[in-house]
Order: sequence, then structure tokens, then C-alpha cells
Amino acid sequence: MTKEIDPATVTDGFHLVVDALKLNGIDTIYGVAGIPITDLARLAHAEGLKYIGFRHEQAAGNAAAIAGYLTQKPGICLTVSAPGFLNGMLALANATTNCFPMILISGSSNRAIVDLEQGDYEELDQLNAARPYAKAAYRVNNPEDIGTGIARAIHAALSGRPGGVYLDLTADVLSAVIERQAAANSLVKVIDPAPRQIPAPESITRALDLLAEAQRPLIILGKGAAYAQADAAIRGFIETTGIPFLPMSMAKGLLPDNHPQSAASARSLAIGQADVVMLIGARLNWLLSHGKGKTWSPSTRFVQVDISPTEIDSNRPIAAPVIGDIASVMAAFAAALKPGRIKPNTAWVDALSATKQKNAERMAQRLNADPSPMNFSSALRAVRNALANRPDVYIVNEGANTLDFARNIIDMYQPRQRLDSGTWGIMGVGMGYAIAAAVVSGKPVVAIEGDSAFGFSGMEIETICRYRLPVITLVFNNNGIYRGDTDGKSPSPTGFVTNARYDKLIEAFGGAGYHVTDTPSLTKALSDALEAAKPALINVVIDPSAGTESGHIQNLNPKRAVAH
Ligand code: ADP
Ligand code: MG
Repeated sequence: MTKEIDPATVTDGFHLVVDALKLNGIDTIYGVAGIPITDLARLAHAEGLKYIGFRHEQAAGNAAAIAGYLTQKPGICLTVSAPGFLNGMLALANATTNCFPMILISGSSNRAIVDLEQGDYEELDQLNAARPYAKAAYRVNNPEDIGTGIARAIHAALSGRPGGVYLDLTADVLSAVIERQAAANSLVKVIDPAPRQIPAPESITRALDLLAEAQRPLIILGKGAAYAQADAAIRGFIETTGIPFLPMSMAKGLLPDNHPQSAASARSLAIGQADVVMLIGARLNWLLSHGKGKTWSPSTRFVQVDISPTEIDSNRPIAAPVIGDIASVMAAFAAALKPGRIKPNTAWVDALSATKQKNAERMAQRLNADPSPMNFSSALRAVRNALANRPDVYIVNEGANTLDFARNIIDMYQPRQRLDSGTWGIMGVGMGYAIAAAVVSGKPVVAIEGDSAFGFSGMEIETICRYRLPVITLVFNNNGIYRGDTDGKSPSPTGFVTNARYDKLIEAFGGAGYHVTDTPSLTKALSDALEAAKPALINVVIDPSAGTESGHIQNLNPKRAVAH
């Protein structure tokens, strides 16, 4: 040592980062250790923060993002420089796209060398690389600015429409020595990082007037409504007005799927015939056909409740925008609503009920078939049976057909317990989301995964086993992407090794593997695994010819115009 360091009078950047996070109520870090942040991870762990170490930064980032969605606190992902940073960036971009609050903290190499492109170890201009995909991006260049940097990142992640924030910490800042008193003085405890946004009273009146005129109103609930944690107020408004509602996939369970006002199983009729649609925390993006095309009526008028004023008119003109946070907006609606003023037409409610009934019967027929090998419907019926008395279970879901079928077959009864491919229709979020859901809630998680989707983050089953998390992964194994058929020139672009035994993977790490080929053994395996509440993976063998290319979104898949 060249200089005498007295810990009574000085501290360093590593300690300041941990102190700043703790001061702001952040209790968990998801990351992958390495240069230059290994000591940061170690210190955080030693100082009582929960540190969950992953095998790949993308999964750690996805975990942080969904933790942010579940808790309304920014999820923290910690990575090394350049490659680790870029691995984490996918998750940051996905968080921004989905409006999840998250902070990606990456260590970075020597600025002087990076900026002159002199070829440092893991050299990359990370700050500028992050900007296009982040809601905000900051770099801390002085140790006394660490507190400010973290405070700004928290404000940016949580305020208004939540999103992903990048925070760049240089290796020099982390190891910099700073006088203890100056360090303490530099910390910032953020006050009110997600301030309420009270809607303008006239926007409330305008929306209620439009809804009062409606004959065939419909409410569409999005994951913004789930995020807002205004569950009772939303339910109160829906039940008081009697308006039918349609949940977007991650809003399932905000009101239970078996609620009499749910129009989920009469979706096409509801969307096609509604004269006024009220969007609550849902965007009119591709998931709703942009509000256009043959599924929608051109004369439908819209109410849109959103925190982001620039979302309005993005796809269809909005007759009654209501800008504010959903909790404040729903409180304002409740205060202004006169009993009996809003009332959907009885014929409308009856038409939806009749269609629901018809579609439920059709669905029951499909579900009750018992083909061998299993198909998506029969296997999911077996899963549904095992979940019947477990409303506490979180569901993670990704894949193509596995996603489409499970969304319709697996009902949700509580808010924010269905976590899926979201706004991008992304694959690879499965294990990261499952790990964070288990860490945040302490509840069991069932990840319903296509075999292809599972592969993107499959190595994280080691993480699940290491932390002994009650995550049960179901791999819907049809030997490939979409389906397991080949084009005769094996291996085909969409095919995998046939008859793979995914269950053996988890056994390598001490988890429980199950291999099932029929519905009774699937129900039993899942029930047993839920009972044990330990890491498990069930290899669910389904018909390789079950499944359609691109699932329910074949219309988005361009095809050759010329065959050869
Ligand atoms: P879904 O995919 O479920 O339809 P989206 O992600 O498209 O949902 O839409 C979520 C919307 O919710 C975004 O437009 C976002 O601005 C909005 N939002 C997020 N949090 C809040 C909140 N607390 N209050 C109001 N709107 C919110
Ligand atoms: Mg498959």
C-alpha cells in the first residue's frame, strides 16, 4: 500500500453505492459478478442486501424488470462492462417497452482509453449505447456524485410512465476513496419518486359523459392498470357501472377471470361491437390490432386513461383522454360518478353472455379430448386441474402456441400473478421472471414454457436450484420451434433434438425432474411439485405435430411470394 487508508475517516465508491441503495429502500440486486463490480456484489451481499447471482445478464435483467413491475420499486440489475452490459441491455430495452421500472447498473472501463478508442479491456461507450433503449441514462464520474446518480436513476425509472434507466459507474469511481463526512453528506434519499398525477376535473367529466351516452361500452384493462395497484378502485368502478371488461394478458386476475362481467371469452364480439371503449393502462398497439382493421368498428369512440399524454391519439383518435395515474383517476371517477348514470344496454350484456356460453362449450369440448400424445389443450387442462385450488401460484408464460393456449386456458384470480411475453412478444424472459416472482413474493411459481422459449434462459435452472426457489418449470416439448416436424433435411431450421429429456437437466443441479406423457401423470407431477415447493422441471411430451407456425399471429409472418 502506497498510502495509509484509515477506515475511520474515509470510505470508497463501492460503499457509497451500497449505502445509497439501502437509503432508498432497495433490498435486492440481480446480477452477474465480474470486473469491475465483483466487490460491489460482495459488499452488497455482506451489508444485508439480497444479491441473486445469475448465469447470464439477460436473465438477471429480466428478473430486475419484473421485480420492478411487481413492487413499484426499480429492480436493480448489476453487470460487468461491455459484453455483460450488452447482455443486460436486452432486458433494459424490454423493460422500457413494457413500462417496467428498472435500473441497469454496469461497471465501465477507463474513460480516457474508451473515448480515444485505445482498446481497453471490455471497451465500449456504454452510456451512448444505452441511450436509445433507455428512458434515461446517466454516468457518474465523481464518487461524491454517486448519491445523486442513484437518486436521479430512481426518479427517472418510477416517475410518469415507468421505464428502464441505465446508470454507468466507472471502475475509477467505484474504487475512489472519499472522506467519510463528505460521503455521508453526498447521499440523497428520494422523496416521492412516483408523484401522484391528479387528472384534470374536466377530463373526468368528459369521460363520464361519453360513457353515459354509450349503449355498448367496454373496458379494456392493461398491465398499466395492474401495475398501478389500484385493484379495489378499478373493480369498484367496473362493478358499479356494470360495464363488461376485457383483460389484456398481464391484467388477467386484476378481476378474477370467472367474474360475470368478464368478456374475455367473447373477445371478438366485444371489440367488434362496442360503441365506447375505455382503455385503462393499455395501449392500442399491435396486441389490439392498433384499434383498426376488421376486428374493430370504425365508429367506436374511445376513453383512454394513461399516465403518458403522448400516448393519446397514437393509433385511433381518442374522444376522451384522461391523463393521470390510474389510482388518482379511479378515485376521481368514483367521486364524480352518479349512481345509475352509466348503464350498459341489457341487450349488449345478454349478447356477450350468450357468446361466452357458446364459446365456453366449444372450449370445454376441445379441453375434454384426450389424444395421445397430448396436445396443447389436453396438457393445459391437466395443468389447470393441478392449479385449481392454488390461486396463490404465480404463472410465467412464454412460447408461441404455449403462450396462446395457456393465456386462454389458465384462469387467473389475483392481480399481477401472470407474467408473460408482454409488449414485444419476447422469448427468453421465462426463468428471469420466474426467479424474481419467487424472490419478491415468496410464493410458488409455475413457468409454462415452450421448449424453444425455455432454451433462451434454461441455464438459470441452476440459479433456481442454488437459491432453492419454489419454481416449477413445465417444458412443453414438441421437438421444436412452433412444432417438431422437419423438412426432410434434418435438422430443419425450426427443429430440435427429438425426444429430448429436459427433466434430466435440473437433476444435474439437485432439482426434481419429471417426465410425463399423459394427462393424469402431468396433473400428479405438478400437484406433487407444488406440494414439495422445491425446484422442479416437468418435461411435458406433446405431439410434435401439435402447434401452428407463429401461433395466433400467423398474419404477422411474411411468407415467400415465390415458392422456389
Ligand atoms: P398491455 O400490454 O397490457 O395492453 P401496455 O403496456 O400496452 O399494456 O400499456 C400500459 C400503459 O399503462 C402504458 O401506456 C403506460 O403509460 C400506462 N401506465 C403505466 N403505469 C401507469 C399508472 N400508474 N397510471 C396510469 N397509466 C399507467
Ligand atoms: Mg416447441
